[in-house]
Amino acid sequence: MGVPGKGLIEGLKVTAKTLARRSVTEQYPDVQPELPPRSRGVIALLEENCTSCMLCARECPSWCIYIDSHTETAPSVGEQARERSRNVLDRFAIDFSLCMYCGICIEACPFDALFWSPEFEYAETDIRNLTHEKERLRDWMWTVPAPQPIDPGPTVTPAPEAVPSPEDGA
Ligand code: SF4
Ligand code: SF4
Repeated sequence: MGVPGKGLIEGLKVTAKTLARRSVTEQYPDVQPELPPRSRGVIALLEENCTSCMLCARECPSWCIYIDSHTETAPSVGEQARERSRNVLDRFAIDFSLCMYCGICIEACPFDALFWSPEFEYAETDIRNLTHEKERLRDWMWTVPAPQPIDPGPTVTPAPEAVPSPEDGA
């Protein structure tokens, strides 16, 4: 059988401990939070780098990247040259109501066109408004932080000089 009032004493102990601790409440939105540099807020698109190769859309496990493009042919330069064709991006949209922020699209992009931005203030009252088109994704590029300096890695101690063996003719 439990001691009467034991629960109350335990509760008062927790209250007394918490009273002495510094408050960690952040006064958002009056004070913006300090986010870690690798925060996954939203995905930004550097449209100039995108070749409409569709790799990101194919790799996305949620199927929430929508891409439309068409091909344009540039006239040949010089007599022997052939015509050149290039993809022109018509639509690039991400449905953030389906996105699970796994980052696979960013990893898969071979042309460095997708980046994590720490921006997180894009809540909507209608879920249909969470599909963002390339213009908005391009705007988020301005919020992408500069890359972190490269980790210098461990210091490698050079191996001692090999001692020549008699077989080497030394
Ligand atoms: S983060 Fe993941 S789920 Fe979201 S768009 Fe990229 S691949 Fe798809
Ligand atoms: S964002 Fe990257 S992977 Fe996706 S279509 Fe553009 S170039 Fe290809």
